[in-house]
Amino acid sequence: MKIICIGLNYHDHIREFGGEVPAAPVFFLKADSCLVTGNKPFFLPDFSSAIHYEIEVVLKICRVGKNIAPRFASRYYEEISLGIDFTARDIQQECRKKGLPWEICKSFDYAAPVGKFISKKKFADLQNLSFRLLLNGQCVQQGNTSDMIFSFDQIIAHVSQYMTLKTGDLIFTGTPVGVGPVKINDHLEGYLQDLKLLDMKVK
Ligand code: MG
Repeated sequence: MKIICIGLNYHDHIREFGGEVPAAPVFFLKADSCLVTGNKPFFLPDFSSAIHYEIEVVLKICRVGKNIAPRFASRYYEEISLGIDFTARDIQQECRKKGLPWEICKSFDYAAPVGKFISKKKFADLQNLSFRLLLNGQCVQQGNTSDMIFSFDQIIAHVSQYMTLKTGDLIFTGTPVGVGPVKINDHLEGYLQDLKLLDMKVK
């Protein structure tokens, strides 16, 4: 399986990060070895001094598809959750400066924890879902999928022009404002609407 991540999909995060609003969804990949499930801990790597959380809504692809039209895109995911796109921010800034690829700052082990997946049918409007991340009980990121620059369906249509989506692939759909660092013993909790889907420790 592959993990596809969308960058720069919320205006307020683009302002915080410094960048231009993209004309089409920007995406990159994480390896399957990034995946952490079942609320197991995130192990802080020692090669970075600025590992940042980015809470994101995650889609799980449920059938194979290529060149998917936007109007059919919703058939390709049944379940959604929250995930954290952990990023070695210091290394990412160096990569950006030098124009180097991002795997080293985005695709290290444990860099993609995901919460419990739930049926999208629980929600009346998928493009109006609030979500938030609590760090040690304090809300540090709060977003709503209505603020996405590219909707779930536009993302699926775009990415599937370039790579075949397969059953079990995950799509991280971008983070809102408020990204910041984690340290050992931090406690992270992710809520989608009023449902706690992610609850993990940093070790
Ligand atoms: Mg991200």
